[in-house]
Amino acid sequence: MKIAIDGPSGAGKSYLSKTIAAHYGFIHVDTGALYRTLGLYALRAGIARDKVAEICPHLEKIEVSLSFTSEGQRVLLNGEDVTDLIRTPEISMYASAVSAVPAVRDFLLETQRSIARAHSVVMDGRDIGTVILPDAEVKIFLVANDRARAKRRLAELEEKGIQTTLEEVLADMAKRDENDRTRATAPAVAAEDAVLLDNSELTRDQTVEAAIRIIEEKRQK
Ligand code: C5P
Repeated sequence: MKIAIDGPSGAGKSYLSKTIAAHYGFIHVDTGALYRTLGLYALRAGIARDKVAEICPHLEKIEVSLSFTSEGQRVLLNGEDVTDLIRTPEISMYASAVSAVPAVRDFLLETQRSIARAHSVVMDGRDIGTVILPDAEVKIFLVANDRARAKRRLAELEEKGIQTTLEEVLADMAKRDENDRTRATAPAVAAEDAVLLDNSELTRDQTVEAAIRIIEEKRQK
């Protein structure tokens, strides 16, 4: 079983996917972590954000892998666990930049598909329903208005002890969404057969309930 959850940043994909995966006993794959890891690599390698294509010659010496524990997914960069290092606003912007490089997307494609071949998954990202798992049995495109998304993202960052403001989060989010939506390769758009779920006015629990209803409807078909 493959469930694809796509949508813009801050729509709540991660919480929703994690909760659904636990509900069905599937693995939750957060694909943004893969792009964030390559963003971290680029930053550490001294590559400027507007020149991230310079990461291409490095790809052959990079290994990015995911492992799944009872507490969730861990991501390894050449054997180093970088899970906790990739959640900063700086890495978000780097991830968005590297994710527009076609060679980077190719590089990460098989990692994602091979996990879905081996396990039932709830995979969240931007292009899961369109490119990575076009044959997913259920596709949800999760959206919320800008303010709702920025407020959630701000709360997440504050929880991690990262100081920022709502205005800063709104500006970063708008830039990242624009990059993701308009890039030539695998833009973040809903698959034709995706169900659109707008949770601007929903609580987390109501969002989960709505998603489970969508999944159950598809499973009965
Ligand atoms: O989901 P998250 O915010 O962690 O993703 C970070 C960045 O990685 C996104 O802004 C997007 O540019 C990129 N991404 C992507 N395709 C995915 C997942 C994430 O391009 N499937």
